[in-house]
Amino acid sequence: MAVVMDEETVHAFADDTEVTEGRTLLADGAVIEAESEQRGVSGLVRDGSGAACDVWVQVVGRELTAECDGPCALASGRLCRHAVALALHAVERRLPWHTPPTTRRTPGEALHALTAVEKATVLDRLLDARPELRTEADKMAVGLLAPRERTELNALQEGTAADVEQALRALDTESLTTGYRPGFGYTDVYEAASHLIEPVIEQHEADVRRRLALGMPDAAEAVALGVLDGLDACEGDYDGDEVLCYAGENLAEIYGYKIRELLRTAGRAME
Ligand SMILES: [Zn+2]
Repeated sequence: MAVVMDEETVHAFADDTEVTEGRTLLADGAVIEAESEQRGVSGLVRDGSGAACDVWVQVVGRELTAECDGPCALASGRLCRHAVALALHAVERRLPWHTPPTTRRTPGEALHALTAVEKATVLDRLLDARPELRTEADKMAVGLLAPRERTELNALQEGTAADVEQALRALDTESLTTGYRPGFGYTDVYEAASHLIEPVIEQHEADVRRRLALGMPDAAEAVALGVLDGLDACEGDYDGDEVLCYAGENLAEIYGYKIRELLRTAGRAME
């Protein structure tokens, strides 16, 4: 805001008689309503025994202007006694001389705009407030992690394969850290490539482990097969500047080993 709103500012925009009369009105409790507006304050000020006047004091640039429907001849750029009373009242009560414009929200709009992390917070709070929903929410969680339909399991497998392939192809050769490091010895480019590829696969291994631990072997298997498919899809046809160029032969064999072991341990042999 361009002006500092205090008594002095109010005085600067009113004649002495209006200031004196305005102060009297204020002291008499003549200001019966006052509220912040987008660029000022508005309110109702009683004038002696007469009816209350509708008053609006506005900040325009560095100036105060007023509107008043009372029996006062309001000079342009000056405040009448009612405007003085209202403005001083606002200063005294520390009413903000600016309210942010309000935009109307339709119900559900905020919920729709949440990020995934914010949605998780809402779910936690909802379940704290309505613990009786916990059983149903858990059922939905099971349905999400362990789909039953064959088509859904296929979609999980295909989605995982696409994720893996995309993540591996996106690995940047600039990130290949090779060379000698004291204490670590020499890292060649193939070893450097595996340091980038392994974390991608490990995320999905964690997912397989999680679903197995929850007793969801079909879903775990779908994810595992998806990882192997994704590795297979990366086989062969690389552009010259992909990290995969240095990943060695038979990716599914090398990088899918742990995931196949996980499934084997769970009693699901994978070819
Ligand atoms: Zn007035």
